[in-house]
Amino acid sequence: MISREEIKGFLTDYKKIAIATICSHSALQIFFGARQEGFKTLGICKPDARKVYDSFQLAKPDEYLMVEDYSQVLDEKFQEKLREKNAIIVPHGSFVEYVGPKNIEEKFLVPMFGNRRVLEWEGDRHKEKRWLQHANLEIPREFAPDEMDRLCIVKFHGAKGGKNFFLASSKEEFEKKTRDGDKNSAFIQEYVVGLRYYPHYFYSPVLNRVEFLGIDRRDESNIDSLNRLGLTREEIERLGSYVVTGNIPLVVRESLLPQLIEMGQKTVKSSLELFPPGMIGPFCLETICRDDLKFVTFEISARIVAGTNLYPMGSPYSCYLFGEPMSAGRRVSREIQLAKEKNELEKVIY
Ligand code: ATP
Repeated sequence: MISREEIKGFLTDYKKIAIATICSHSALQIFFGARQEGFKTLGICKPDARKVYDSFQLAKPDEYLMVEDYSQVLDEKFQEKLREKNAIIVPHGSFVEYVGPKNIEEKFLVPMFGNRRVLEWEGDRHKEKRWLQHANLEIPREFAPDEMDRLCIVKFHGAKGGKNFFLASSKEEFEKKTRDGDKNSAFIQEYVVGLRYYPHYFYSPVLNRVEFLGIDRRDESNIDSLNRLGLTREEIERLGSYVVTGNIPLVVRESLLPQLIEMGQKTVKSSLELFPPGMIGPFCLETICRDDLKFVTFEISARIVAGTNLYPMGSPYSCYLFGEPMSAGRRVSREIQLAKEKNELEKVIY
């Protein structure tokens, strides 16, 4: 694991910070927000993605660093170039996916916004569970195959975007639907009936507060459209898949806000106890609100989520925190700016 000291060492040579990320996921928002905060921006880009960013003059990076493959980000020369340009990387989901969590932990010697240690706590199901339990959040029950006594969702590790997940209510059904080789890697969780909400938070070590920035719901193909065909529950269970294709904006009834705000605060407190300096910056809880109006958290995304792309000019909640448009992307750059002014960059960079 790269040490904080090593990263701090690079930061001391930085004169004029540039905000950098891979041109994908939430990069438009990150660049747009960085520009609003007065930073130069660097986009690590593959040739076919460039036209997307060139289409939006206010959100395209000031400078492109072109690559043929994102694995090039790990080349020593490329890392050196990023440091020479005084880059601070804002890691989004695609950045972590393309560069790889282990590589980021061990080989990527460039200052990043947030806490690198979070990768191991988010990426390992057992650690993620410990984090959420330590925060006292309600999480779905887990089952061994022979304990299944209700509708369950069967997941597979690393199956990004819910690929090949399926529903099953008994050991027999589980056995029938799982290939032999996959049985040991299957993770069986109670299927929570309710409505999904994905609240976005931001933990600021500089201001010492947890901010509630917005909410979205993911649009998932094809589970979100199967009911239009009037299928039976069996058919929906057989055909349903969970690949995210977009995001929908949401607000909750105001009486639910105390619960959501407290859940974010507890998640941060738990992270500070388990892996200081904790869950720095943006994160999202993936929750289901049951009909008893309690939220069950089935996953955490420990960085900026694509659902925040809904609010480049601020959300129906962020407007009450800032007297100006504040996206999650801009909030990251604002935190870097505040930390810089207070000479506390090492608090938010690792
Ligand atoms: P990502 O990494 O993109 O968040 P993933 O592969 O980790 O996706 P999950 O987010 O765990 O997958 O689940 C995918 C979808 O499956 C959820 O968005 C939700 O619709 C459904 N889902 C997951 N867990 C549960 C659960 N316990 N009860 C009901 N639905 C669930």
